[in-house]
Amino acid sequence: MQVHILASGSTGNAALVELGGKKILIDAGISARRIERGLAGVGIHAADLDGVLITHEHSDHVRGIQVFTKKFRVPVYARPATWAGIPGYEQIPGVCRQELGEALDIGPVKIVPFPTSHDANDPIGFCLHYKHLKWVLATDLGEITNMTAEALAYADLVILESNHDPEMLRNGPYPAFLKQRIRSRQGHLSNHEAGQILSQIARRPLMQVFLAHLSQQNNHPELAEKTVADILRRNGCGVGEDIILRRTYPDRTSSLVF
Ligand SMILES: [Zn+2]
Ligand SMILES: [Zn+2]
Repeated sequence: MQVHILASGSTGNAALVELGGKKILIDAGISARRIERGLAGVGIHAADLDGVLITHEHSDHVRGIQVFTKKFRVPVYARPATWAGIPGYEQIPGVCRQELGEALDIGPVKIVPFPTSHDANDPIGFCLHYKHLKWVLATDLGEITNMTAEALAYADLVILESNHDPEMLRNGPYPAFLKQRIRSRQGHLSNHEAGQILSQIARRPLMQVFLAHLSQQNNHPELAEKTVADILRRNGCGVGEDIILRRTYPDRTSSLVF
C-alpha cells in the first residue's frame, strides 16, 4: 500500500493511492507530463492506473486530464455536473469519460464520494474502503459540514486541506474579493479549522494525516503543521503518536509506503 501526493496546492493537485492492489489517481490538476513523470518517479507506469477520480472541475484539479487520457486510456470518474464544467470535455475519449454515482468499486476497493462545501458544480471528497481500512481525501472545503466530519471519522489515513493562515490571508497580497472567496463557506479550509476538525472527530489509533492544498501565498508548510499540532495537543491528542502529521508540496512528491 502506498500514497504519493505528486502535487498539492492552488497551482495543481494530483495524488496516487495504491490500495488492495489497485492504483488510483485522485485529481489530475498538473500537466499530463508531470503526472507521468511523478508516477515514474515512484515506480508506477501511468498506463497501469486502474482509474482516475475527480473531485471538481477547477483547473487545479483537472488541468492535465485531456492530454493524459489521449495518451493513456484509463477510466476517469467524475460527477455529471463536474464533467459538464470541464472545458472541452467532449474531446476526452468516450471510454475514459465515466459518470460517478453514489459509489464505485475498483476491484476490491469501494469508493464512496461525499459532498463538500465549495464553489464548484458538484464538489466531492472521497472515502476509499478496503477490508478494514478507510482512507479519505478532503480538500477544497469552505467549511466542515456534518457529512465531511462523518467521512473523516475513524479514517486510517486522511489527505486534508489546510489551506491558509487567516492572518497571512488578511495581510497578504490577494485582492479583497479573492480573500473573501477563500474565507467563505464555499472557499478553503484554514489551518485552524483543519486542526479543530482533527481534534474533534472519532479516531482510530495512529491516524496518518497529510496536510494538503496549502496556499503558497498565505501559508507555510511549517506554520500549517505547527498550528494543527498545537490545536491537537491542546485537545489532548498525541502528535506523532495518535496522529502523524505529514507535509505536502506544490512541486515535489510526498510519500508514505506501508
Ligand atoms: Zn476548487
Ligand atoms: Zn483546489
